[in-house]
Amino acid sequence: MTDPNDAADPTEALRAGLEDYELDESDISLLDAAPEDLPGADAGPLPVLAVVGRPNVGKSSLVNRILGRREAVVEDVPGVTRDRVTYPATWAGRSFTVMDTGGWEVDVAGLDARVAEQAEIAVELADAVLFVVDATVGPTSTDESVVRLLRRSGKPVLLVANKVDDERGELEAASLWSLGLGQPHPVSALHGRGSGDLLDAVLEVLPQTPRERLGPVAGGPRRVALVGRPNVGKSSLLNRLAGSERVVVDATAGTTRDPVDELVELGGRTWQLVDTAGIRRRVHQTRGADFYASLRTQAALEKAEVAVVLIDASETLTEQDTRIISMVVEAGRALVIAYNKWDLLDDERRHYLEREIERDLVQVQWAPRVNVSARTGRHVERLVPALDTALESWDARVPTGRLNAFLGELVAAHPHPVRGGKQPRILFATQAATRPPRFVIFASGFLEAGYRRFIERRLRETFGFTGTPIEVSVRVREKRRGRPGR
Ligand code: GDP
Repeated sequence: MTDPNDAADPTEALRAGLEDYELDESDISLLDAAPEDLPGADAGPLPVLAVVGRPNVGKSSLVNRILGRREAVVEDVPGVTRDRVTYPATWAGRSFTVMDTGGWEVDVAGLDARVAEQAEIAVELADAVLFVVDATVGPTSTDESVVRLLRRSGKPVLLVANKVDDERGELEAASLWSLGLGQPHPVSALHGRGSGDLLDAVLEVLPQTPRERLGPVAGGPRRVALVGRPNVGKSSLLNRLAGSERVVVDATAGTTRDPVDELVELGGRTWQLVDTAGIRRRVHQTRGADFYASLRTQAALEKAEVAVVLIDASETLTEQDTRIISMVVEAGRALVIAYNKWDLLDDERRHYLEREIERDLVQVQWAPRVNVSARTGRHVERLVPALDTALESWDARVPTGRLNAFLGELVAAHPHPVRGGKQPRILFATQAATRPPRFVIFASGFLEAGYRRFIERRLRETFGFTGTPIEVSVRVREKRRGRPGR
């Protein structure tokens, strides 16, 4: 072990000083990681498993089972739209995304159409589908119509017979062979029976190497999601961008893409606009449309590296706009905000818009902003530098030496407040991941939220990070006992 007093490099001295603290294995591997090994936390999209079925068959319980925890997903509540529809899951060391398609308004009249619509969207977005049937009820005509749709899709489908709590239930489950989806997998989502076997079967049908299939191919196009609430102009912008520049897919080397994606040429380069089928298909403004919009947005974000959130500048900012921006930040994607319909703005509206932005979007002041008009084509070319900036920040890596020098100066000038006679010391910091940048600070005590936000603000001022969310987490470590001090 190096003696900190011998180390010429102050970063190495700090690092060596950390050895006096109780570090666990994950700390050590984080500290020892070579900079080029930094994981892009969300480097490639994970395969998506959609859970589809009629209301009350137990989809949410099954999703909870798969996630291995209880608190995440609540049962469908009529009239309540859920924002969150995708959840990270792992089984047998493999990671994937579970998409819960419950959570729309239960309305008996339009039920058939609704379930089919939901299934259609889910199937299009998913890599594999769990079709859940209530074994105690048996197949209904709604189930049968969904089956036809699932079979047409050609995607792998596993038939789940839920509510099989005992041996007798197994018999009931067997009757589901008649659906023609092959072997029913009997489970009890509530009690956990059969869920391990089901997950084993899931891993067999989920694509083995999603990253190769969908992930960033070296030098391949970067993946952009165009998101925003209905009528902000997504399809108009898509048409404007795709316009005459539609790229012939097969001619582009190194491209693997979903049929729902579109390749466009902007600023002399090819970009992959993900999940454009959802933009092209106009979802009818029925009840539950909000939910589909959420589902779409979330699914598109899963596949994207950067999101362009469109906002209708001619109208008052809505809660839905800010919610979509939060979804992007929470998904850890790079962010560009495009104010569309700029051609409709007069001076008065422009004034109010600026006030609304100041009031409602302070949290994302770091996002590049472009004012465009999909209708006239005004300034749409400015999206390219904005996307480049955001992605560059998203990929950025701060060398450990610079990071610690920055923190050293910051702490010297603005020490953490003393509380109850104690003052936590910042011991060392390192960047744990890129895409987006995530930083870990080792400290001798708890750092107050206000101080963490201050660090985050200064990180942005110093290193830029225009267009990317960043995360700062703190690991509090205690000094080793029973070891002679220096
Ligand atoms: P989407 O639901 O987000 O895909 O929105 P659309 O692209 O369908 O646009 C909704 C409406 O806004 C349509 O009537 C468009 O013609 C109109 N629109 C879209 N972009 C612009 C724009 O830049 N300026 C104006 N004036 N209208 C626009």
